[in-house]
Amino acid sequence: MATITMRLIRDGEVPFDGGTAIQDDPERPVFRGNGPDDYVCVVCGNVLAAAMQPVQMTKKVRVRCGRCSTVNVAVTEEPAA
Ligand SMILES: [Zn+2]
Repeated sequence: MATITMRLIRDGEVPFDGGTAIQDDPERPVFRGNGPDDYVCVVCGNVLAAAMQPVQMTKKVRVRCGRCSTVNVAVTEEPAA
């Protein structure tokens, strides 16, 4: 089990298709899967998605943290400038 820190969505970054998941309860991850990794908020470290497969955490997956209201995205690699 690894813990992966998500990243901030950039200002002006146009969302891809799909919505932003809202975490209603900071104590409960928005997503729960059967994979190896927990994904945590980049700002406060709250667990937003638990036991996820990497393939499930694509760039379409955005989660608004229930604790600090930061919108996180999963993919960390930056596109070429
Ligand atoms: Zn947070």
